[in-house]
Formats: sequence, C-alpha cells, structure tokens
Amino acid sequence: MKTIIEPFRIKSVEPIRMTDRAEREVALENAGWNLFALASRDVVIDLLTDSGTGAMSAEQWAAIMRGDESYAGAPSFERFEAAVRELTGFEQVIPTHQGRAAEHLLFPVLAKTGSVVPSNTHFDTTRANIELSGAKALDLPCAASHDPARIEPFKGDIDLAALERCLVENQGRVPLIMVTVTNNAGGGQPVSLANLRGVRALADRFRVPFFLDACRFAENAFLIQQREPGQRGHSIAAIARMMFDLADGCTMSAKKDGLANIGGFIACRDAALADELRTRLVVTEGFPTYGGLAGRDLDAIAQGLREVVEQDYQEYRHASIRYVVERLAARGVPVLQPAGGHAIFLDAAKFLPHVSWREYPGQALAIELYLAGGIRSCEIGTVMLGHVDATTGEETPAEHELVRLAVPRRTYTQSHMDYVIEVVEDVWHRRHTIGGVAIESQPRVLRHFRAKFARLPLAVAAKV
Ligand SMILES: *Cc1c(COP(=O)(O)O)cnc(C)c1O
Repeated sequence: MKTIIEPFRIKSVEPIRMTDRAEREVALENAGWNLFALASRDVVIDLLTDSGTGAMSAEQWAAIMRGDESYAGAPSFERFEAAVRELTGFEQVIPTHQGRAAEHLLFPVLAKTGSVVPSNTHFDTTRANIELSGAKALDLPCAASHDPARIEPFKGDIDLAALERCLVENQGRVPLIMVTVTNNAGGGQPVSLANLRGVRALADRFRVPFFLDACRFAENAFLIQQREPGQRGHSIAAIARMMFDLADGCTMSAKKDGLANIGGFIACRDAALADELRTRLVVTEGFPTYGGLAGRDLDAIAQGLREVVEQDYQEYRHASIRYVVERLAARGVPVLQPAGGHAIFLDAAKFLPHVSWREYPGQALAIELYLAGGIRSCEIGTVMLGHVDATTGEETPAEHELVRLAVPRRTYTQSHMDYVIEVVEDVWHRRHTIGGVAIESQPRVLRHFRAKFARLPLAVAAKV
C-alpha cells in the first residue's frame, strides 16, 4: 500500500482546546506577540520544538515503573548503560540531565582560552558552552547548505576542505572536532557516512578527537539509509553504529532521539577522560549512576533508544514531514528542501518579500500562523540569530529568515499535518496583507525567548 500509517494505536489521549482567532489575538497580545510567552493551553498544534515533547510508548511507561531510585548502583543505570553501549559501542557512559549539561561537562575539560572547536554547525547551547570555556566555536557548513531551495541529499555535511585548513592553521589549538547529526541549526539536514569518514581521516592525521553531537542520530541514520549509495540494505541500527564507530565519543540530548521527555549523556572510549568527567559530574549533576536523572528516566531512555531505530517508526516520521514539505512546495510556498529529519522550515524572506529584515519577517509569519490556526512555530532568523552591537545598538541580519515547524515525535497524526498545510496555505494566500513587527524590549542575550514585539502597519509599498 502507498499510504504510510502511524505505526501505533493510541492508548492515552490528551485533549486539545480549540480556540478562535479573536481569542488568540488576545492571548498573543498579552504575550507581547512572543510565542514563547504563550500558555500551551492556548495553542492548538504546538510545533515550537521537537525537544522533550514526544509521546512515550507503552513499553517506556512500563519501564518507568521498573525504575529503581537507589542513589548508587541502581539496576536502572545498568540497563541504561547497556542500551547506550549496544547502540554506540562506546564503553564509557555518563548520564546527564539533558544535552547541554553534557556539553557543560565536556568543554571545560577539553577546551580553553585560545582553543578552536570546528563543527558543521554548532547548536546554540553547544556554541554557548564552548565560548564559556574561553574557546572559539567555528561553523564550517558545506556550500550546499547556504541555499534553502537547492535539493541535495546531504546538506548537513561539514566542508572538509575548510576543516583541513582550520586544522593546519590552528595546529595544537583544536581540542576536538564536533559534527552535529542531523544538522539542527542548518535545517535538520543529514550528514553522510562519506563525510564522517572524511572527518575521521582528518582527525587521525592531526591527532584530534572527533565527537558527534548525536541528538538526532537515528533520523540521520535513516536518511543515510534512504539517500546514500549502497546503504539501503543496512538496518538503521547498523548505520547508526557505523556513524558512532567513526567517532571517539558523543554528547546526546535524550529529549530528541532518546524518545524521552528529559535526559542526556556523554559516551566515549577514553577511560581517563571519562574519569575526569565523572569527577565533575558529581559536583554539578549527581552520582555517576544517575547524573541528574531519576532511575525511571534512565529506564525510559534505555527503552527509547531501542525504539527509535525501528524501521517502521522512522518511515512514518519522515513520511509525515516529507508530506507537508512536498504539498507546500507543490503549491509554490517557499519551504526548505529537501525535507530534513525533524521539522518543516518556511523561508520567510521569500514568503513575505515586502517585509524587510529590519521588520523581522520570520516573527511576523510565526505570529500570523498562530492567529490563523493556533499553530505555534519558532522564528529562526534575525530575532534569534541576528547580531546586535553592544555599544552602537546596530543590528546585522541572520543569513536566513526561517520559521521552523518542529514535529514532536509520535504526537500528531496525519490529519493534524493536513490541518497544518491548510493553515500555511491560508496565510500564503493572504501574504500581501501581512506587515512586519518591531522589537519593543529585549534582554541582552538570547533575546528571542523574552523579547516583546509590536505589530507594524503594512508598508505602503506592499499594498500596491
Ligand atoms: C537540543 C540540542 C542540544 C541540547 O540539548 P538539551 O537537551 O536541549 O539541553 C544540543 N545539540 C543539538 C543539536 C540539539 O538539538
């Protein structure tokens, strides 16, 4: 059959409260036109993030009941450790309460002032933790990643020539190479095995450790299976293992491909490094056999890591995202292509060409998607990534003005996706009537979370 169905039945449901446009106008005005400030009860379809928002399986809930809350030596940890070892082949397994806690442990041990840490693209918390250790976080995405409309299989790849130059120019100053799979900041685009092999060769030549930011390792492995020549015959778990075999270690947020609501870990081969990390772990996270998590969380993650590599699950997840991307692209809506692993990205600069970057087209579009259909999305453009000079207040735009519709795992069905398409199309047809926004107040750092906006009248030019 051609129809790819949700490979699960629903055992427990969470009601969605329906709202109308007038109610949503009030809710968003009270929130300062910032979607982060909305109460979730005022949201119909919540696509703000795919992090920690997924549904757990019956087996995960059963695992929750098996959780052992002993302070030290709980069997929950043994099951967690065994699941991570089986998946990654990394002997050393260190639990943390989420991905950024893993980063916060790792970087101060490896990096220092003057260090340079290259990546395909660092996630924002990864960059912040690298910079906190005094080092420089360097993004080296491949050329294809710069064009949102270009269809290429592996737009998440790192630019190997640029990585080689970086290693030559910074000999002795690169404490590790990071590769983010899939490349979240770059649109959820996958990294190929060929590219990871290239990174491994450079890591060997320059004797530098190579770590994966493995948050979406299974989505990346599925896209390798589907898109990389010669990989169709391999299971997702086998491909994931090939990815981990090329690396020396990884940081992981279990809130993504751990299929859990909280959690993370560091895993690596180097026992001396792991020993140092455990020493730090006890101070900030907890004893090495729970690391900031409850025993029940460790059990839920152990089970989630086994379910996330199931073929039927990944087929459904990617079919659902591809379905939205292809429908929207067919109707001319500017959408990032090809479909990535966890989200649909609208190109707001092309969607609202009459709104200049100074009037934040991504935020304007995200606001309208909410008013039109109660969909909560996230601006990934100048509000989030633009640079504001601390002394002059002068602003520099982000490279792209995107709106991300992140899809929580196993949470929404096909009809929810049909509804999303209908809302985006409705806004697309009325795009000429949508004006920009101004920032009324903003905090010094990470402004997108707490900024307040005002809606601007439609520019005269757009009305004609
Ligand atoms: C979410 C994420 C992180 C951080 O993980 P948290 O669990 O949110 O702290 C790091 N890297 C990438 C690529 C992510 O998507």
